[in-house]
Amino acid sequence: MTDTSFIVIATLLGAVIGSFLNVCIYRIPLGKSVVWPASSCESCARELSWYENLPVVAWLALRGRCRTCKVALSARHPIVEALTAVMFGLGAWFYGPSLLLVSQLVFGCALIVLFAIDLEHHLLPNVITLPGIAVGLAFSVVTGPGWVASVLGALLGGGSLWLIAEVYYRVRHEEGLGMGDVKMLAMIGAFIGWKLTLVTLMMASIAGSVVGILLIAARRGDMKYALPFGTFLAMGAALAATVGPGLLDWYLGLYPAI
Ligand SMILES: [Zn+2]
Repeated sequence: MTDTSFIVIATLLGAVIGSFLNVCIYRIPLGKSVVWPASSCESCARELSWYENLPVVAWLALRGRCRTCKVALSARHPIVEALTAVMFGLGAWFYGPSLLLVSQLVFGCALIVLFAIDLEHHLLPNVITLPGIAVGLAFSVVTGPGWVASVLGALLGGGSLWLIAEVYYRVRHEEGLGMGDVKMLAMIGAFIGWKLTLVTLMMASIAGSVVGILLIAARRGDMKYALPFGTFLAMGAALAATVGPGLLDWYLGLYPAI
């Protein structure tokens, strides 16, 4: 059982990292540096004082508004901070102090940033997906699933979506999936290997179809206006990386001959 103090420290660290992820989510699509200058109000550009940088607490204390210009601050801030904190806490509890914990958290942070940017901008920036492929491959050697599974994962993930995008384009003469999705699934494949990449793709497709059907049922438009596919890939990958191995064992147990 993991030490309680380790879990508490990890959770607090997660909240601080979540605050940094918000900076990435806001600045990367604008092409700005994520390390300089210090955080400022996204509307009036006033530099934030130390207590306004406190994760979750600051947003609640200020009732979601800037102290000077009173502009409403996006609820994305406390949500991303709380989500990252919970992810770090659960990860620390489940994996304990280990390199596997580090690789899972790096992967999780990349997924959170890609999810939020795709949701707001319909964009999956290369500055995350491309280095992500290299980082995932490097981690795979140390914490598993090994470089062969990782390289196959990147090729299978990127290749399968590229093929789907290409066929869709030839048939419908419009872009269904972007190259961002292709590079994102390649990154996911590099981190979790080819088997769990298939699980990711399956879960993302199911989630995408369910949301699409719900939107059609609610007469809110067709599949085209559903959430961007990168958000489903992020959710699918998070599930695949956590419950995926157990799910695969169970599924393959049903067919022992395979
Ligand atoms: Zn302001």
